[in-house]
Amino acid sequence: MPDTHLELLDSLSQRLGNQQVIRDSVAMEGYLVEERKLYRGTAMAVVRPGSTEDVAFVVRECAKAGVAIVPQGGNTGLVGGGVPRSGIVLSLERLDRIREVDPFNATITVEAGCILKAVQDEAEKADCLFPLSLASEGSCRIGGNIATNAGGVNVLRYGNTRDLVLGLEVVLADGRIWNGLKGLRKDNMGYDLKNLFIGSEGTLGIVTAAVLKLFPHPKARTVAFVGCASPHAALDLFERLRQRTGDQLTAFEFMPRFALQVVLRHAAGAVRPLAGEHEAYALIELSSPDPGIDLRERLERVLGEALEAGIVEDAVLAASEAQGDALWTLRESLAHVQRLEGGSIKHDVAVPVSRVADFIVTATQACEEAMPGVRVCAFGHFGDGNIHFNLSQPVSMEKAAFLRQWERFNRIVHDIVDGMNGSISAEHGIGLIKRDELARYKDPVALDLMRTLKRTLDPHNILNPGKVLAPEADLPSDLPSSS
Ligand SMILES: Cc1cc2nc3c(=O)[nH]c(=O)nc-3n(C[C@H](O)[C@H](O)[C@H](O)COP(=O)(O)OP(=O)(O)OC[C@H]3O[C@@H](n4cnc5c(N)ncnc54)[C@H](O)[C@@H]3O)c2cc1C
Repeated sequence: MPDTHLELLDSLSQRLGNQQVIRDSVAMEGYLVEERKLYRGTAMAVVRPGSTEDVAFVVRECAKAGVAIVPQGGNTGLVGGGVPRSGIVLSLERLDRIREVDPFNATITVEAGCILKAVQDEAEKADCLFPLSLASEGSCRIGGNIATNAGGVNVLRYGNTRDLVLGLEVVLADGRIWNGLKGLRKDNMGYDLKNLFIGSEGTLGIVTAAVLKLFPHPKARTVAFVGCASPHAALDLFERLRQRTGDQLTAFEFMPRFALQVVLRHAAGAVRPLAGEHEAYALIELSSPDPGIDLRERLERVLGEALEAGIVEDAVLAASEAQGDALWTLRESLAHVQRLEGGSIKHDVAVPVSRVADFIVTATQACEEAMPGVRVCAFGHFGDGNIHFNLSQPVSMEKAAFLRQWERFNRIVHDIVDGMNGSISAEHGIGLIKRDELARYKDPVALDLMRTLKRTLDPHNILNPGKVLAPEADLPSDLPSSS
């Protein structure tokens, strides 16, 4: 290690304490690989500041030494964005204070290292709801959610992370602290800077705290699991529900026949929700802060009419909270059990909601034609137009041979998405895994503006270099090696 780097680490240890500058390779391991193990990172140290001022100090020292910084929250990202390729990992995990809950302003001010579940729990103590909800909520951190503009299962009703943030505190690449922690619903004092940092995946600044929106806590909820003959029938049902239930429609999640088969085969305790099999399933939730409202009766009525109209083939409504949770588990366990079917090639895409059924049908057909035997598992946030278009390997194929087809399937699926004016990254971000795809599909003028912003806010390219945008002289070469 060059002397300048040793001096940097000594200076950081002096300010933060030795135990907050981890150099031991075994202790660093959990910060160098993400859950899917698509990339193995390398870093000279993991640095864990405990305050915004200490984050600013670390950034200033790294800037002086020309050392790259990879901000990290819970390391649950799925696109390689938090994996270091040199320099230091700056873990926000010690910035985990709830700074303020203001029920009258309906806001909560939190530090970036708060675990998402802890923010939800704190809101609940004030009889409020913080609606961001992901399967990784027990370990992802709010700074990571903001940096990736995370989505999840409640976007339909409450929006994605961008819609939930009112203010931010950010450490810039030169170590200055921007205090934008305002809890305002209206603020037209010039450019909306916070939105630059939301979804920037650690490439423009380091989020250290945020003011987030709270909502009335739902007091009534009803859940149904519905079988339909096709994705188009599911879309008809979605449209009916939206017309009839408005804001009460909190979730409309989609699973194809194959996805439910996978869950029933592998998820412990999973019980078949409907007697027969159907081409398409929807998990529906209505909720309301009004405890007196009969949501079950309302949902039953809409589903009954849809049954008569031939849109729905069969449906079950949860008779209790526990049954509602069990139906949700069918959907949520899919992310964990699909890997048990062998190699999986994943796409996280969005199209206009009106095209979501067309997309599923067209892309499924194209992939099945390209590789007979491939098993399409197109599931997810149907009501947001966001589908996790995953492909499981043909049963008899070798896993590695299947995964070598990743780029070929990217082209097939992403071309269809692009043709529908969609997005090749709906909620997981770009990181490393979609960097080449971004360059291919993003409007060239938009890409040019992104590069201009990066150069302006991080002129020495020390913040998460090489993520989202390829370094200008560096042609991308990182491809996933396993699933
Ligand atoms: C089982 C499972 C289910 C998931 N489900 C969903 C889902 O439904 N919807 C969804 O959107 N995502 C989902 N994810 C992906 C992931 O949980 C989200 O992207 C989450 O927002 C990442 O948060 P994190 O704290 O783990 O961030 P990390 O993985 O630590 O970091 C992600 C990116 O943000 C940057 N970053 C982290 N913290 C900061 C900060 N304070 N300032 C600046 N940059 C920062 C990192 O450099 C990196 O580029 C899922 C992941 C798993 C494992």
